[in-house]
Amino acid sequence: MLSYQHAFHAGNLADVQKHALLAWVLDYMVQKDKPVSYIETHAGRGLYRLSSPEALKTGEAAQGIGRLADAFPEGHPYPERLEETRAMFGADAYPGSPLIAALGLRETDKLHLAELHPQENAALKEVLGSWGAHIRKEDGFDFALSLTPPTPRRGLMLVDPPYEVKSDYDHIPKFFAQVSRKWNVGVLMLWYPILRDAPHVPMLRTLAAQFPEALRHELRFPPAREGHRMIGTGMFIVNPPFGIETETARLTRIFADPG
Ligand code: SAM
Repeated sequence: MLSYQHAFHAGNLADVQKHALLAWVLDYMVQKDKPVSYIETHAGRGLYRLSSPEALKTGEAAQGIGRLADAFPEGHPYPERLEETRAMFGADAYPGSPLIAALGLRETDKLHLAELHPQENAALKEVLGSWGAHIRKEDGFDFALSLTPPTPRRGLMLVDPPYEVKSDYDHIPKFFAQVSRKWNVGVLMLWYPILRDAPHVPMLRTLAAQFPEALRHELRFPPAREGHRMIGTGMFIVNPPFGIETETARLTRIFADPG
């Protein structure tokens, strides 16, 4: 089942949390003079248009990045990636996570991306193919397992599934255990939705028991429209970089009061 299309949701409040943390973590990692591997299991199309019929239909981007864009301090890597994206692709362009990663990384770093949907995969190749990214049309969990431990060993994996398949919630703790057995130094970032019926709770309980030192950051917000199930956004980070609590606290403040 591949019915989820991120174009309806790009730039929403969940993307703001996920992409701001991703940009910050990558920025932290490239401060050291050692190369980095970036692996993404569910990459999407890499570039979105905030004036597309999909974005306008849900209005989620307007409530997300549209409302919060000015709340980040100058020099923060997330608004910098947004600015660079607009400069390259036009005023209504919004970067997906692979583009945020590509813009934040250096020539010596490696980018590995899986996207299973044929059209999304083709669009991703169009945006990032010429950047030397390794892009595959295959299951992201299998892809990531086949690559770990990556070379270079220092690196980050973003896991951002659409949770269309309910078995994802059971599978993810097993997947994280497998990855971390093979790659115990990898920074593993998992995004999850907070839905009204809270299907993430058992998954997070298991993950927290497996990774007691991991960081968990959650934000709540009103549903994007009446009847919408999503009421918040969460990130679970194994091997969180030093100082990230300052960044998560900033995000919590920004969501509570964009200023
Ligand atoms: N990470 C992207 C971002 O933040 O810009 C958004 C990704 S979107 C939430 C999830 C993507 O996973 C969709 O584009 C979907 O087509 C893709 N997908 C669904 N099942 C997949 C699978 N088993 N393996 C790889 N990609 C998959």
